[in-house]
Amino acid sequence: MTSRLGRLALPAALLGALTLAACTPSSPAKEASSPSSPPVRVASIPRTVDVRSISGIVSDQQSGTLSAKDGNRAKDVSWNTTMIALPGHPAFNRALADRGADLVIAHVDHDPNTHMFRLDWSVPVAEGEVFAVRLRSQKTHEANETPAVSTQTLYTRASSDETVPSMALIDAKQQAKAAKAVCDAAAANGTIPNSGQVDPAAALQDIVLNADGTASVILTPDALGAGVSEPVGVHVDKDTLATWLSPTGRAYLSALASTPTPSITAHTKETPHKRHAAVLSFAGLPNDEPAPYVTATMPRSHAPIDCAATKCIALTYDDGPGKPTARLLDILKQYDVDATFFLVGRSLNGGADLVRREVAEGNEVGIHTWNHPDLSKASVETITREIADTGAAIEKITGVNPPIVRPPYGAINSTVLATLGTLGKASIHWNVDTEDWKNQNADTVYERAMAAAKPGAIILMHDVHPYGPDATERIIVDLKRQGYTFVTIAQMYGERLKPGAAHFSFNNIR
Ligand code: ZN
Repeated sequence: MTSRLGRLALPAALLGALTLAACTPSSPAKEASSPSSPPVRVASIPRTVDVRSISGIVSDQQSGTLSAKDGNRAKDVSWNTTMIALPGHPAFNRALADRGADLVIAHVDHDPNTHMFRLDWSVPVAEGEVFAVRLRSQKTHEANETPAVSTQTLYTRASSDETVPSMALIDAKQQAKAAKAVCDAAAANGTIPNSGQVDPAAALQDIVLNADGTASVILTPDALGAGVSEPVGVHVDKDTLATWLSPTGRAYLSALASTPTPSITAHTKETPHKRHAAVLSFAGLPNDEPAPYVTATMPRSHAPIDCAATKCIALTYDDGPGKPTARLLDILKQYDVDATFFLVGRSLNGGADLVRREVAEGNEVGIHTWNHPDLSKASVETITREIADTGAAIEKITGVNPPIVRPPYGAINSTVLATLGTLGKASIHWNVDTEDWKNQNADTVYERAMAAAKPGAIILMHDVHPYGPDATERIIVDLKRQGYTFVTIAQMYGERLKPGAAHFSFNNIR
């Protein structure tokens, strides 16, 4: 899971930002000689928006341990990331994910002294048309150290999928001046010894625009340099901010005050409170649009694994999404295992979030028909409709119409296979049946799976039984101990997947 980090290149600009402090102390502090309320002054950091009510937002958490080389010594770095995705904003989500990945690479992969790294997000602005996400990273070098905190805030808007970093809100020609003014304010307040050499890139990476035309610039300890442990908020008054803003910054400031477009307002079925207008406009986007779901660190691939040379095994789950699916996904994630889920169309309504999660976490999804009929007794028309409807419904959620079908009960005949072939679908069966629908406990399911497991096998389970997750955990632990690699169906077959053919195991395709 962690090895992919090493292959990504670290942007030079990011390295620069890591090493340059924004407000390097260079001379003794001067007394503050300004009036009681200077235009740029230290003030409390604005509270972030409570996002618990935002249904459109998808959040993902990943964690793990990276074994890094520290000189000649190998050491383990623990890391944890939580990322956010907004519906209808694939480019913005991608930008967030890239930033997150850059941070993980810089702090975990490229810093041999890192002990712990954490990345999370919050929403500092959701107003009018404007939405902003703050990424916060925390890092320690020692076990009981106060974490070094770094933040950056990126903007987007409901009507556009653009990504605007905080610094782009400030005119390029004004950035040095703005950064110095902000650092001077922190120095005048005694928060930092003094502002010496100022790096605008570090000082202006977290700006909160306020609807009243003012702004708050957040300086993090990372930007402030040694001796500072808490973030510092610097308030910028309206007149001063007006002289700093870029055209983009001005556009965002006025979009803050805008009301959502009537169509989006109507979609929410009530008059949105202005404060949450942007929240509602994101949450109110049509649900039939697949929510782009990205993660900070390791987008997993379904690149084929050579199961002729590797001890492969595939876990497959039918009939979901169901009640135990969420816990099953927790377990798969915990053990870094990808499985394949064959979905029932009629269960998709209400289960779309789980399906998104299945895919986002690296699992594969396939078609298990809409109504779960015995296809070997159905007409060509029924078979076609059962497969096509379910495939289209899955595509609406995930963006992909799966090429794999698991016929209910494994029931096929020449008509079923010929129809699947016409539809370009492969029939996926199993050679390890846990009979989990029959044996109502984890022990029996586990024992059946272990007794029949062999390289290249496909294990059949159902994610509708409460004891399934427990059985799965024990199966994973023991098969891993035996040296098995868990693969999805796509990984097992790659280009050997054959439409119209029945696949029972890696070597058994009929
Ligand atoms: Zn089934």
